[in-house]
Amino acid sequence: MSHPVTLIPGDGIGPEVSNAARRAVDATGVKIDWQITELNSNLILKTGDSLPKSVVDSLERTHVGLKGPVTTPIAGGFSSVNVALRKRLDLYANVRPVHSLPGLATRFQDVKIDMVIVRENTEDLYSGLEHEVVKDVVTGLKVITRAASIRIAEYAFRFAVSAGRKKITAIHKANIMKLADGLFLRCCREVAACYPQIQYHELIVDNAAMQLVVRPETFDILLLPNLYGDIVSDLAAGLVGGLGIVPGANIGDQDAVFEAVHGSAPDIAGKGIANPTAMMMSAVLMLIHLKEHEAAKHLQSAIESVYNAKKHLTCDVGGNASTEVFTDAVIAALGH
Ligand code: NAD
Repeated sequence: MSHPVTLIPGDGIGPEVSNAARRAVDATGVKIDWQITELNSNLILKTGDSLPKSVVDSLERTHVGLKGPVTTPIAGGFSSVNVALRKRLDLYANVRPVHSLPGLATRFQDVKIDMVIVRENTEDLYSGLEHEVVKDVVTGLKVITRAASIRIAEYAFRFAVSAGRKKITAIHKANIMKLADGLFLRCCREVAACYPQIQYHELIVDNAAMQLVVRPETFDILLLPNLYGDIVSDLAAGLVGGLGIVPGANIGDQDAVFEAVHGSAPDIAGKGIANPTAMMMSAVLMLIHLKEHEAAKHLQSAIESVYNAKKHLTCDVGGNASTEVFTDAVIAALGH
């Protein structure tokens, strides 16, 4: 049986790393019917359509996507297609496992880091509701609802139970945003009360940022609203070696889209040096979602063996291999 999957190469380094991930998945022997769908900043500029129907139609057919990053213009231009896609398909849980890779030298290499970020993916300041009240006075709406907060908290606790995790830390700024973050926190507490077997803690986001750097090994699952989840994801990626190695999943009740935490990295796009590990490990999460557990395990250990061998690593993690050479090494380690 072959699994239909929408493959969105994206732009910037997206086509390079998604091609690498596709080659690695194909090399596991799992049959995927890749339905390649264009979604990139050029297309959006050309058509003026910030979320092409072809992308949504394909994902509504396949229910599973593997997506490269898409560039969003800064301080103007079209609004984020990544945010639009998550909202359109109601991919409310953004799940990002962050762990040390074997043999990889990092500033924190002596510390065992193994955490999962669970980020609310549909509201908060990503509502896109901004307004220039009068010239030079702008307001932006932070939307926090009980429905979305309960839903993400329930997802995090269910995930903790099914993954055998012990502790959830809810991260907030409810000392300042008493209503918005206060509501998020009350919902987390309400759900936590139904899961006495999972330890529940809370941290104010600025303190959490410090604790993450000083004691990263003490974190298990982090439960955050959208904006803090975005920022803390990159911080956490920095702890384990950078954005090149942290995967992610956008999960809804119907559909799931797997993508790395990183963006389109315009500074290195087209140079053939991007690290495809994050995309490959996003594909590992996708294989688990497709219930191809053996292949997922196999691909993850092939990636880890290339890190252990240290010979074919990309420059962001201290090596000098190209995207292609790293990918070839992973495929060779798969032994197919
Ligand atoms: P970025 O993640 O693209 O890059 C940050 C830094 O990390 C850069 O120095 C880059 O070279 C490096 N990096 C990222 N991925 C790497 C990889 N795989 N291998 C090696 N180095 C890697 O963040 P940015 O520069 O802030 O954003 C660039 C664009 O990407 C923006 O338009 C932003 O909106 C977009 N973006 C898209 C997504 C998405 O599609 N989901 C996510 C984040 C950012």
